[in-house]
Amino acid sequence: MNKELRPCVIAGNWKMNKNRLEAKALIEEMKPLVADASCEVVICVPYTNLETALELTKGTNIKVGAENCHFKKSGAYTGEISAEMLSEMGVEYVVIGHSERRQYFGETDQTVNLRTLAALEAGLKVIVCVGETLEQRELGYTETLLKFQTKMALTNVTADQLKNIVIAYEPVWAIGTGVTATADQADEGNGYVRAAVAEVYGKAVAETVTVQYGGSMNAGNCDELLSKINVDGGLIGGASLKAPDFATIVKAGSK
Ligand code: PEP
Repeated sequence: MNKELRPCVIAGNWKMNKNRLEAKALIEEMKPLVADASCEVVICVPYTNLETALELTKGTNIKVGAENCHFKKSGAYTGEISAEMLSEMGVEYVVIGHSERRQYFGETDQTVNLRTLAALEAGLKVIVCVGETLEQRELGYTETLLKFQTKMALTNVTADQLKNIVIAYEPVWAIGTGVTATADQADEGNGYVRAAVAEVYGKAVAETVTVQYGGSMNAGNCDELLSKINVDGGLIGGASLKAPDFATIVKAGSK
């Protein structure tokens, strides 16, 4: 197994945080701190901050992502944003299937797949999230669930399109809770995700797919988590809202 076959991607997920002024200040503070990163640096921001983020990151190594998109190109879907709308703005990434979307907004494995396909078709790179709840883990379903969610999310995604997919393993019990999976649990979960990719696309292809860990990753635990063979990056919530903390994680991802 060779980590060098896949790029390390460190992505911030700002969730529903930061008004325009705050976003501007955070990005300005972050820019010099991550400028010499050798990993991919992404900030996924609320729709209302996309334009600001795109403007302020022009000519830098920071890529901009959205936190969701709809699967239809256009139409009577009040309040929704299509993948095309994002890509024509210059947005590069989109997060799909975050557990908060699954938990609060009725996101299902089917809609995660539809959104993923639409985003790929629009030319976006997708960070697709999978993860088990504490109950599912305690019942012993972690492997089954992660493999199922991964395969469902990737249904009808071609091996070529897979180059634009990053998968984030985010145990639901570790998101925003301050409880981090141990480095071994993260490695194991990411390994299940990679195994699911291998079952569909073959082992050689699976070795090239970036699988992030997400769930209370921070400046203190990132080194250990990112040192694991199956952990190719991080999806970072809370710690991405503080420039020095995010920069520390980016530095760990650049080693
Ligand atoms: C996330 O939002 O994807 C996340 C992992 O959040 P946190 O880092 O705050 O747990």
